[in-house]
Amino acid sequence: MEFIADDNIKLMSGDLGINRETLEIPFSRPFPNKATANIEEMVGRIPRPLRIIGAGAAVCLGGIFTLSLVSSVTIRTLQAAAEAKRKKVALPCTVCKGRGYYICKLCKGDSTIEWSPLYDPIVINPCVCPTCEGNRVQRCLNCIGKGYV
Ligand SMILES: [Zn+2]
Ligand SMILES: [Zn+2]
Repeated sequence: MEFIADDNIKLMSGDLGINRETLEIPFSRPFPNKATANIEEMVGRIPRPLRIIGAGAAVCLGGIFTLSLVSSVTIRTLQAAAEAKRKKVALPCTVCKGRGYYICKLCKGDSTIEWSPLYDPIVINPCVCPTCEGNRVQRCLNCIGKGYV
C-alpha cells in the first residue's frame, strides 16, 4: 500500500513536471519565472505615471467642469438681464398682438387638415396639422413667440 501511494505521487508530479522533493517547478523551465518577473517589473513601472496622469486629468476635468458651469451661469444671467432690458423698451408684436402665438394659418384652428397622399379627392383623410401639431395655434414668426420685437 505504501509503495503504491508513493508511486502515484511520483506519477502525478511527473506529469505536472513538479519535483517531488521540493514540490516546485524545476529550474529547467525558466520561461514562466522570467515572464512573471517581466510582468512584475511592468506592473511596478506603469501604474505610477498612469496614476499621476489620472489625477491630473481628474483635476483638469474638474476645473473645466467648474469653469463651464460658472461661465454658463454667467452667460445665462447676462442673457436674462439683456432680455429683461429688451422687454422693457420693446414694442409688443403687432402680428400676434403681443401674445407670441396666433391661430394656426394652415388649419385655421381646426387642428386637422384634409390631406390626400395621391391627390385623389376620394381618399382625402383628415390629418393632424403639421404646422401646429394639433395645438390649433402656431408660434408667431414675427417675434419668434416672444410677443415683442
Ligand atoms: Zn395647424
Ligand atoms: Zn408676434
